[in-house]
Amino acid sequence: SGIESQKERVVTEEEWLQKWEMGNIGFHKEQKHPLLQKYLDVLLNGRSGLRIFFPLCGKAVEMKWLADMGHSVVGVEVSEQAVKEFFSDHNLPYCEEPVPEISGAKIFQSTSGNISLYCCSIYDLSSSIVGKFDGVWDRGALVAVNPRDRQRYVTLMINLVEKNSSYLLVTVSYDPNKHRGPPFYVPESEIKSLFG
Ligand code: SAH
Repeated sequence: SGIESQKERVVTEEEWLQKWEMGNIGFHKEQKHPLLQKYLDVLLNGRSGLRIFFPLCGKAVEMKWLADMGHSVVGVEVSEQAVKEFFSDHNLPYCEEPVPEISGAKIFQSTSGNISLYCCSIYDLSSSIVGKFDGVWDRGALVAVNPRDRQRYVTLMINLVEKNSSYLLVTVSYDPNKHRGPPFYVPESEIKSLFG
């Protein structure tokens, strides 16, 4: 079945880098996600100046939008091209530094200071490196994680959030026997068992 064959499928980091190089990035949207606009109040819960995390961030335009609202945004993205395109698409000056705790990783920070993008694998992060977050925007992230890594991903995410945090997760409901993506099917029952 579609779900069974998906469980074995793996998209490697190299393949993600290639997608960026080829401009094969149909997942990237120029407009803010309508569900983030709809549920922004749930994410913020009346609070201001939050630390908001974007796992597997690509060059999501919502990072700029939330930063402009006064929140501080942290993202992680394996493709350096994606990170650089984010800053250039928005004409944001940035600086680039190595991350001492993670070999080969770099952090790109907007000069204004409220957007920090880690260029490395999300599995290299821990709360001792990035701290904890008040909110998470998970769109194209859990559904892009290889099925064999889902539990590891969710355990990490749970470790990266504060007690009083909001986690907005976007998944797509479809018949996995008819469609191959995007890129993996995560049924609601599995979301419940993963996050508890
Ligand atoms: N959330 C973004 C991008 C979704 S596509 C959006 O809404 O547009 C998934 C992204 O995750 C790709 O840009 C890919 O390069 C990145 N990625 C894949 N595996 C990763 C990993 N292990 N760590 C960090 N980024 C990863």
